[in-house]
Amino acid sequence: MGAIIVLMGMPGAGKGTQARLLAERFGWPKISTGDILREIAETETELGRIVRETQKAGQLVSDEILAEILRERTAQGDYQRGYILDGYPRTVAQAAFLEELARAQGKRVIVINIAVSRRSLVERLTQRCACPQCGEIYNLRFKPPRQDERCDRCQVPLVRRADDVPEAIEKRYDVYQEKTAPLLEYYRGRTAFFEVDGERSIEEIFQQIEAIVRAEMAANDPQG
Ligand SMILES: [Zn+2]
Repeated sequence: MGAIIVLMGMPGAGKGTQARLLAERFGWPKISTGDILREIAETETELGRIVRETQKAGQLVSDEILAEILRERTAQGDYQRGYILDGYPRTVAQAAFLEELARAQGKRVIVINIAVSRRSLVERLTQRCACPQCGEIYNLRFKPPRQDERCDRCQVPLVRRADDVPEAIEKRYDVYQEKTAPLLEYYRGRTAFFEVDGERSIEEIFQQIEAIVRAEMAANDPQG
């Protein structure tokens, strides 16, 4: 039985990094709905036009369209064994659709929430900086550049984001918690929901996630 891995966690919790590591380890595709929408918006198709107009109006693309995109994308051969979702679902309605899709595809949804505290998120994000030239993201504590505060590749001084100050980070944290609460509640009542401690190192978090996925796969596929 294949698996659909749903990674949850707020921006800064390391979700994107873990999604990438998982994709590499298992050889499964990683789907970021944000990336797919950007891609579609650039095409000269009916769907491309709809996505462009919705985004231009500052609105969110509807659940129906997202569902259709996901269904179509994951019907391809390389999605057969499993895939990793980053940024989807965001709502209970989307989660319910995913459940339905998983059933139709004969896959099991495994949800992993990477939890971080407000304080450690502030600690982490105030240490975040980026290269103004190539866009590479560094963290002075968790992923420091080789030479102090300069990009490894471009050698230019790194800069901090203007909204990576404690007050703004705390605000983002609270907004995220509030928005995600119903979705977490929905998943907490299900069997394949796991929470990992996002305050550990990237490697430790990854080991934990990998162990969860392997155990879940083994439990549901005795033949291996
Ligand atoms: Zn650079």
